Amino acid sequence: WEERLRHSQKMEAIGQLTGGLAHDFNNLLQAISGCLEMLARNPVDPARRHRLLEGGLQAVDRGRTLIHQLMTFSRQRPMDLEAVDLRDVLPGCLGLIRQVVRGDIEVKATLPADLWPVETDPVQLEVALLNLAANARDAMPNGGTLTLGARNVPDAGRRGDMVEIEVGDTGMGMAPDVASRAFDPFFTTKPLGKGTGLGLSQVYGFARQSGGEARLSSRPGRGTTVSLSLPRTARVPQRLFGAARTEPQGGS
Ligand code: ADP
Repeated sequence: WEERLRHSQKMEAIGQLTGGLAHDFNNLLQAISGCLEMLARNPVDPARRHRLLEGGLQAVDRGRTLIHQLMTFSRQRPMDLEAVDLRDVLPGCLGLIRQVVRGDIEVKATLPADLWPVETDPVQLEVALLNLAANARDAMPNGGTLTLGARNVPDAGRRGDMVEIEVGDTGMGMAPDVASRAFDPFFTTKPLGKGTGLGLSQVYGFARQSGGEARLSSRPGRGTTVSLSLPRTARVPQRLFGAARTEPQGGS
């Protein structure tokens, strides 16, 4: 039954998505055909001709952006799951987060040294944390504090050992109706061109595909915390990722 519910929710999301896209593309095609029709009429003076061409090309460009966003979303390539030592990955992410936020936002991190290794895709983890940082930044137009935290969570119920990573902000928070839809693909409250509504849905999909979960808690006017949990792995992390800790290597 749950499976059926999930399926129907998915179909609804796809319906909304294709409906929205069809509408957008229809508008663009109309703009382009309008330009072409005008151009086909003779005579068209050079200045006007130039404007029509520009208009048509802009519409084509906008279509390209739409397709690009859609492809980024649908490229649900299988995750490259591996055993990851978060102490290798998180400091690099923290550096990127600092670049994403503005100067009036303080970034604080609490990363314990004894974090368990987890099963995840380190590249997607980085994308997820950057998505969360961008949201935190957008939620704090007047500055504030972004916190990145991580902690071991020993076997909670039947889920096994997990590591929980949290991104918190002291921003505007979300009203309950926004919070309940925030993880939906293409749900955004941001103006056109600023938001795609895909950030949190990437975070959610990523956490689920890693075998973990994503949750959010938010208080309007106070701030938001998004946490994602990743399963502890018994495997030994092999690959050092990004600007990694230096470990003794054989040879030199
Ligand atoms: P986008 O950021 O492109 O709008 P997301 O999926 O990342 O898409 O977020 C969906 C919506 O959830 C946002 O438009 C915003 O309304 C809300 N939201 C997400 N993160 C936060 C946050 N940290 N604080 C307040 N609102 C948030």
